[in-house]
Amino acid sequence: MPEAVPAGPGSRPGARRPLVSANWKMHHDHIVALHTVRDLGLRLGEPEAAVEVSVHPPFTDLRTVQLLIEGEHLPLALGAQHCHSAEEGAFTGEIAAPMLARLSVRYVIVGHSERRGLFKMDDEQVAATLRAVRRHAMVPILCVGESAIERDAGATEGRLQAQLKVALGALSAKEMASMVIAYEPIWAIGSGRAATHVDASDAAGFIRSLVAAAGGAEAAAGVRIQYGGSVNAENAADFVAEPDIDGLLVGGASLQAAEFAEIIRAVAGCYRSSAS
Ligand code: PEP
Repeated sequence: MPEAVPAGPGSRPGARRPLVSANWKMHHDHIVALHTVRDLGLRLGEPEAAVEVSVHPPFTDLRTVQLLIEGEHLPLALGAQHCHSAEEGAFTGEIAAPMLARLSVRYVIVGHSERRGLFKMDDEQVAATLRAVRRHAMVPILCVGESAIERDAGATEGRLQAQLKVALGALSAKEMASMVIAYEPIWAIGSGRAATHVDASDAAGFIRSLVAAAGGAEAAAGVRIQYGGSVNAENAADFVAEPDIDGLLVGGASLQAAEFAEIIRAVAGCYRSSAS
């Protein structure tokens, strides 16, 4: 279950600990990763402790980042960007969930729109991958979102419903409660054109209602919903000020430690640390 953060004066009420995740995609080799993660760790202090932060480097960086986080006790969770649904086998170029679990990976992004679009990952593969991630006691960050054409056609909710019907069908209510869902409108990813916080909030609320229908009230209360798509330090707080948005999935603006730390700081400002 997500850790609870008590509400306090000046804080965003709610019991879900926000999660801000850095999706590095195919950027930063393990040397650059080492420097970037160390720099990020140094920039995070007590005021940021209300926010959980995960870093998702390329596969070749995972061992380096794991040892750094553990060795220097950095307040960061290790994440991966993808994995295959099978336990092992003849799948050239793929990585299995148990391999990630052996590296103490905590979060795995599943069904990112780049996997769906560029590598033809379909909803059934997404569902099978969610099951694999859960089998190995890791937490999936399930990505869902509509294309620009679907948005213009007023089909956003239909798209989210279709994606979540298959994905949530693979999980128990308990698993839903502890998972993360990232609402990422495809047109906003890497475009510099973020969704408005009102639209993102509407989508997050709709996603939560779908989790409630599939898994009940407890699942809906527990699931953390991130917004992703052209997030930066200026717009981050607007998103997480929305009651149904519990964090951010950040691509481009997570590559430099200073910029990513500003985003984390902005999110922390909307919450009150349990220690304060
Ligand atoms: C992403 O990669 O999931 C993403 C949201 O990228 P960006 O922040 O660059 O739009």
